[in-house]
Amino acid sequence: MQRRDFIKHGGIAGVLAASSAPAFAQSAPEIKWRLTSSFPKSLDTIYGAAEQMAKRVAEATDNKFQIHVFAAGEIVPGLQVLDAVQNGTVEMGHTVSYYYFGKDPAFAFDAAVPFGLSPRQMNAWMTEGNGTKLTREFFAKYNVLNFPLGNTGAQMGGWYRKEIKTVADLKGLKMRIGGFAGAVMAKLGVIPQQIAGGDIYASLEKGTIDAAEWVGPYDDEKLGFNKVAKYYYYPGWWEGGPQVSGYVSQKAWGSLPKNYQAILQAAMAEAHTDMTSKYDARNPTALKRLVATGTQLRPFSKAVLDACYQAALEVYEETGAKNPMFKRMYEDMVKFRDEETLWFSVADRFFDDYMAKVKRGGAK
Ligand code: CA
Repeated sequence: MQRRDFIKHGGIAGVLAASSAPAFAQSAPEIKWRLTSSFPKSLDTIYGAAEQMAKRVAEATDNKFQIHVFAAGEIVPGLQVLDAVQNGTVEMGHTVSYYYFGKDPAFAFDAAVPFGLSPRQMNAWMTEGNGTKLTREFFAKYNVLNFPLGNTGAQMGGWYRKEIKTVADLKGLKMRIGGFAGAVMAKLGVIPQQIAGGDIYASLEKGTIDAAEWVGPYDDEKLGFNKVAKYYYYPGWWEGGPQVSGYVSQKAWGSLPKNYQAILQAAMAEAHTDMTSKYDARNPTALKRLVATGTQLRPFSKAVLDACYQAALEVYEETGAKNPMFKRMYEDMVKFRDEETLWFSVADRFFDDYMAKVKRGGAK
């Protein structure tokens, strides 16, 4: 008995001794991934989030897990990120989900929808509401796991060669505007064009388009839109808080050790919040520079906004009638948004309004 016990214990110890080193090595394999971005390298804000994430992942794994970030066009064009992740060309992508509105309008709920959520509300819907659950259910069909990987904050309404004083001024306007918002604008006579960020300037300069929306002052100034269009409208009612997404191939995710999955997820979460901070910190000075060099800042009139809101409701209704998943996501988002709007209209709104008055010198 004693001998048998000795062998048994020795056996276990032997197994532990033999397996401990390989087990550790197995948890830190060398892995190299490629990430394809929808954005040009010139945009440190939106493109930079993927680089920041990749740097953190490398640091946290002692350079064992490396994600090489490629700009739009280096591997695939900016609007083909979904396909590249879905078909395994790359392990990861960085993109905005509403670019794939043409494949299925339900994609937009992973990014932004007209008259939808603010950045904080979007975060709350994704993490505390049903946002992640519903979008993950949808993305599973594409073999993609979607993660929040940035939010630009509320966007501007874009650059126009001529003033938009009335709803009629939108008629016949050729505008670079993304999928869902384009469908809404089309109801008011706009001819929407889907063009990747890096290609907008050339189209506006050549006069192929009359107007373009991108993000906000910091990015828009970098892309030079102020040089080719004078009127800068706000707000971008189609993007109250647009989320940028990290797409991970489900197969690639499944092949990662658990600790790499945790590191990657944490690095994406960090870059997600940092993107909003970058925009919030850089937009004010950029806006001042734009106005100082001749940009004409204009709010959309209430009549224009009301017409857009009504057109958006029509698109929601028509799309929901044909697409059950879209309808489920829309109804869930609206219920969440209405509660959020109620809460945000109390402390946040009054605080923001008061501070804006103080800034203008109107508060006593
Ligand atoms: Ca935009």
